[in-house]
Amino acid sequence: MHATLPLLVDTDFPPIARRRLETLQVNVGYVCNQSCLHCHVNAGPTRTESMTLETVQLVLRYLEASGATTLDITGGAPELNPYFRYLVHEARLRGARVIDRCNLTILHQPGHEDLARFLAAERVDVVASLPCYTAELVDRQRGKGVYETSIAAIRELNALGYGHEGSGLTLDLVYNPQGPSLPPPQAKLEADYKRILGASFGIVFNRLYTLANMPIQRFGSTLVTKGQFNGYMQLLRGAHRDENLEGVMCRSLVSIDWRGYLYDCDFNQMLGLPLRVAGRPRLHLRDAMTRDLGGNSIVVRDHCFGCTAGQGSSCSGALA
Ligand code: SF4
Ligand code: SF4
Repeated sequence: MHATLPLLVDTDFPPIARRRLETLQVNVGYVCNQSCLHCHVNAGPTRTESMTLETVQLVLRYLEASGATTLDITGGAPELNPYFRYLVHEARLRGARVIDRCNLTILHQPGHEDLARFLAAERVDVVASLPCYTAELVDRQRGKGVYETSIAAIRELNALGYGHEGSGLTLDLVYNPQGPSLPPPQAKLEADYKRILGASFGIVFNRLYTLANMPIQRFGSTLVTKGQFNGYMQLLRGAHRDENLEGVMCRSLVSIDWRGYLYDCDFNQMLGLPLRVAGRPRLHLRDAMTRDLGGNSIVVRDHCFGCTAGQGSSCSGALA
């Protein structure tokens, strides 16, 4: 795989700083049952990195100490971490909103048959990737048969109440473009998804998040291989909008890796760019408990234009 960080270091992305911390986004490991083409984590079945119980307990301590109100759990397939359910349950006991970034197919893996019921019982918000409403494009990006399994998993979540108005069980879907282009307008695409998935399968969901692909890891490497990296960066840079700087997720979110180190966002985590505080090269949860990160400078590189291009992009969809 081509390294993309050296291509992103020389940047004129505007300086930005943190505000009050609201969300801990915890990457509990890079193990996944899929190996998607666009994965910015480079996750897959052969990865072995996985958060230990000791680090999970530090996350819970930091959740209390930091005052963050949301725990956003990602991976890999986060549910493959052996302490996933413990983390969810303990965070819910502490009153946090919990988000599971679920790849849907995990719900149909052996040993996870009761996962959907667990998520519903803990009232966990589910955010799930479905990069198209057609089988052909989903299978091309995420693997053969993924569309069919994903649809079955959404129907299972729907049957438990997920995505239904007034149930309090939120199911949001995530779209990302197939190639080096910006996502289309979020509201229009959401309406198309709802109409087509509703008519074809009776599926309901709450919101569609459109995300730009980041020029890093597997997607970035593919761009390099195809000679499209510079063109894609020009597209992102040319579409930069200053007003999106206000809402970029790193202002209110901190990303934690499977070892317990802190980053300004998941993308920086994948690039190996730790959060910098008081001249320290990196910060571990153990040393973060009493620190207020408000006002701290955010580590930016050229990939940050992926968050500010066009309608903007964050883990909660478009910014505009
Ligand atoms: S399901 Fe998600 S984490 Fe797993 S390989 Fe695909 S994009 Fe990466
Ligand atoms: S890539 Fe990360 S650090 Fe850069 S703007 Fe986006 S969220 Fe912030």
